[in-house]
Amino acid sequence: MIEVLRLGHRLPRDCRISTHCCLVARAFGADKIFYSGQKDKEMEDVVKKTVKNFGGLFEIEYINDDVKFLREKKENGFKVIHLTMYGENYNIFRKKKENYLIIIGGSKVSGIFYKESDFNISIGKQPHSEVGALAVFLYYLDLKMNFDNEKIKILESKNGKYLKIKR
Ligand code: SAM
Repeated sequence: MIEVLRLGHRLPRDCRISTHCCLVARAFGADKIFYSGQKDKEMEDVVKKTVKNFGGLFEIEYINDDVKFLREKKENGFKVIHLTMYGENYNIFRKKKENYLIIIGGSKVSGIFYKESDFNISIGKQPHSEVGALAVFLYYLDLKMNFDNEKIKILESKNGKYLKIKR
């Protein structure tokens, strides 16, 4: 199980970037995204609609207390990986058959997440974004993708936009 925790969602400021975190998590093979901060029904609806149209079993859930949540995940055997530019380079990380919780920040990330995570991992030594960091790290994990039961399938094309739509 590969899960993502997006910290501190702020309305309206983070609407677009948090939605992109969700879509990237789904598209690159995570099973579920949790988010803390402010609850955002509109973002949840966009994610659910994407799953309905493009398939798979990806889920989204709001959580109130992200520190308690991290501790519970560890008690339940998850390895926690916090993505931060201050961490160790991602190529030191060797994937095992384990459950992972991948944490991405937004505004200032509390020191607790650095201390309590099993790994603090950087995607290069430059500041960029939670969307970029998550995409690269999930791609590096080389996860199995499952987008079964899609209504809309995108067809590869050199020069157009083609979809196969199930009625
Ligand atoms: N000032 C924040 C802090 O205290 O960590 C960083 C803000 S940054 C815009 C938002 C998030 O993007 C970070 O919390 C981290 O998850 C991710 N991020 C940005 N650059 C990164 C990098 N080079 N490697 C890994 N993650 C990165």
